[in-house]
Amino acid sequence: MLAGNVDGIVRIRGEFFILEHKTAAQIDSDYLEKLWTDFQITIYAHYIEQTMGIPMTGILYNVLVKAKLQQSKGETEEEFQARRAELLAKSKTGKSSAKRRMPETDQEFQERLTEKYAEPLMLHREMLDLSHDRFDILRSELWELTQAFLDARRRGVFYQNTAFCFNYQRPCPYFALCRSNGNPNLIENFYQRVAPNEELRVLPADAPEPTF
Ligand code: SF4
Repeated sequence: MLAGNVDGIVRIRGEFFILEHKTAAQIDSDYLEKLWTDFQITIYAHYIEQTMGIPMTGILYNVLVKAKLQQSKGETEEEFQARRAELLAKSKTGKSSAKRRMPETDQEFQERLTEKYAEPLMLHREMLDLSHDRFDILRSELWELTQAFLDARRRGVFYQNTAFCFNYQRPCPYFALCRSNGNPNLIENFYQRVAPNEELRVLPADAPEPTF
């Protein structure tokens, strides 16, 4: 069983596109080149065609660049006094007009973020045509994946896909567990068992049907 959330379906000049919102640390030609390999979006398109009978022409990506801004913590009184003493030592007049840097408020940070996201380069829109040959490849790959999964489940052996441990510029949520070689104490203290696709369960059951 596969489950997912499609961000939207849009109609452009009578043709239908899957809408996909993404965030990226940076958008360059390598990033855009890789979009056509998006396995998940091909599944969505295939599913929508099959179950809703909507012919999919392509994918409309809205890619938001992650702002590398951080809320300023300001400085403590001790840090300020140390900085001031340094400035005074360098000052020819023996005076300094330095003021303590206060922490940035949530509102100030929000304003800075809003200003940043108003920059045109923070959002990139890319439209890709969907080749229906991809559906054949998708079906065949899904079959292979299910067979590999069933085989692993039958034998109780799941290989570690270590090439993905830091795939999103951060450790995978299971990194501590894999590194500990399945230490039961770690499992008990840091992990809990939840039903699959829990994030999709919060959707209201009476979510409106899409309209076109
Ligand atoms: S840390 Fe994550 S990506 Fe790496 S082997 Fe474990 S489950 Fe796979």
